[in-house]
Amino acid sequence: MLPFVGMPEYVMGNVRDHPSKEDLARSPAGRLMQQFKDHVDTACGDCRHIKYCRGGCPYNAIIPTGGKIGGVDPHYPAYKRIFDDISDRINTELFGSCEMEMTPFYTGPRRRDKPGIMSLMQKIVMK
Ligand code: SF4
Repeated sequence: MLPFVGMPEYVMGNVRDHPSKEDLARSPAGRLMQQFKDHVDTACGDCRHIKYCRGGCPYNAIIPTGGKIGGVDPHYPAYKRIFDDISDRINTELFGSCEMEMTPFYTGPRRRDKPGIMSLMQKIVMK
């Protein structure tokens, strides 16, 4: 067996031991993740992106503070801008003037040259 090289304080368990969900949650790393989750619920409670962002990457949030919960992922302003842009585009394409792209006989100017999120999602689904 290869020796473990890494950060043992952040190991929740080993798959060889078949740990239960409760075993993982009881580990020091599991408790730290729960603390991070609780922190995010408070710190990001008003944010519209909380369901999928969840405070960003726990590693980025916890490692700079030496293992203490002192904030969310420091890169979150960038994530927030990206989530804002994606949300705005989805809202525009779903509830805005998307019939310009959807109407087959429309011959007027298109809203944009780049494929929109709906077009990209359609391509992914059709694969
Ligand atoms: S975007 Fe920022 S405020 Fe919103 S959930 Fe993510 S880390 Fe929290």
